[in-house]
Amino acid sequence: VNGRHDKEKGVNVQVILRCRPLSEDEIRLHTPVVISCNEGRREVSAIQNIANKQIDRTFAFDKVFGPTSQQKDLYDSAIWPIVFEVLEGYNCTIFAYGQTGTGKTYTMEGGARKKNGEFPSDAGVIPRAVKQIFEILEAQHAEYSMKVTHLELYNEEITDLLAPEECTKYVDDKSKKPIALMEDGKGGVLVRGLEEEIVSTANEIYKILEKGSAKRRTAETLLNKQSSRSHSIFSITIHIKECTPEGEEMIKCGKLNLVDLAGSENISRSGAREGRAREAGEINKSLLTLGRVINALVEHSGHIPYRDSKLTRLLRDSLGGKTKTCIIATISPSVHCLEETLSTLDYAHRAK
Ligand code: ADP
Ligand code: MG
Repeated sequence: VNGRHDKEKGVNVQVILRCRPLSEDEIRLHTPVVISCNEGRREVSAIQNIANKQIDRTFAFDKVFGPTSQQKDLYDSAIWPIVFEVLEGYNCTIFAYGQTGTGKTYTMEGGARKKNGEFPSDAGVIPRAVKQIFEILEAQHAEYSMKVTHLELYNEEITDLLAPEECTKYVDDKSKKPIALMEDGKGGVLVRGLEEEIVSTANEIYKILEKGSAKRRTAETLLNKQSSRSHSIFSITIHIKECTPEGEEMIKCGKLNLVDLAGSENISRSGAREGRAREAGEINKSLLTLGRVINALVEHSGHIPYRDSKLTRLLRDSLGGKTKTCIIATISPSVHCLEETLSTLDYAHRAK
């Protein structure tokens, strides 16, 4: 069960499972719950007992967070150590994976906006990570520079969420300007024309994040839930100046990628009947390739198929090698989501 966090083998993929609570509507409708979480044993069970359909399956993960878990619990116990590694010079990626409506965005970004200057208690992984990064840098009196990028991957096309308004209209496909991805010749990729914003305070990052999410929300209403089909990648790169004991200057560089993936239902359900065959295929491509890349990393197979999708090409310098990866798989407790939940549990379990 513990093979994924194996430092000797250099595998550093952690898989976390989070189950959201029933919504008010679901409670009102007496929606049956088919998921039970055992946080202590780090197990999740899906149980359904109806005459012709009996399901009883249990899955183990590195960490399990049940419906009553708070944003702070998840952050302090699972995410904090990863963000710490970024400041040690690692490239780290945190993914939220799951069916639409199960809490990916809630987990990554969180519910409330800042109220009268106070840090909201339901702030998600991103604002908490930003807060922690600045706290550590300040405590260390570090000399540093920081930049962020925020992009969206939809249909294997990149949209810059930091670009000026006129470059990111979603009104129709013609006015959308795709951004090119190029190999940099050193094993990494360059995103040509992507805006990088230099930041020096946590508040600046919160504002950037809010602007980006507002854009995603607008797109969602304009294009019929587009954001459930797109991946959002928010990246923070930090350069820290350090002095060796010999008095030499050194630059330590770490990167944190925070990825809110497209709804995983896109993997199982073909969009063909909506006349969206290509789109369904392309979304599958990134999600399926991500699964394969993580599998290959965990199993130490020789060939890692980074090149098979834009998502894995973009994240190549942060997946495998001296990096840390955390997948937060989100599920609903409801009987109506059971089929998708089982497919999420399977996908996440395979990534271990
Ligand atoms: P997704 O991004 O996966 O489509 P959302 O993050 O938008 O899902 O969550 C769907 C709804 O459920 C939102 O109203 C969100 O506030 C709520 N929600 C999700 N997870 C939780 C949680 N752990 N606790 C409380 N509410 C949650
Ligand atoms: Mg979302």
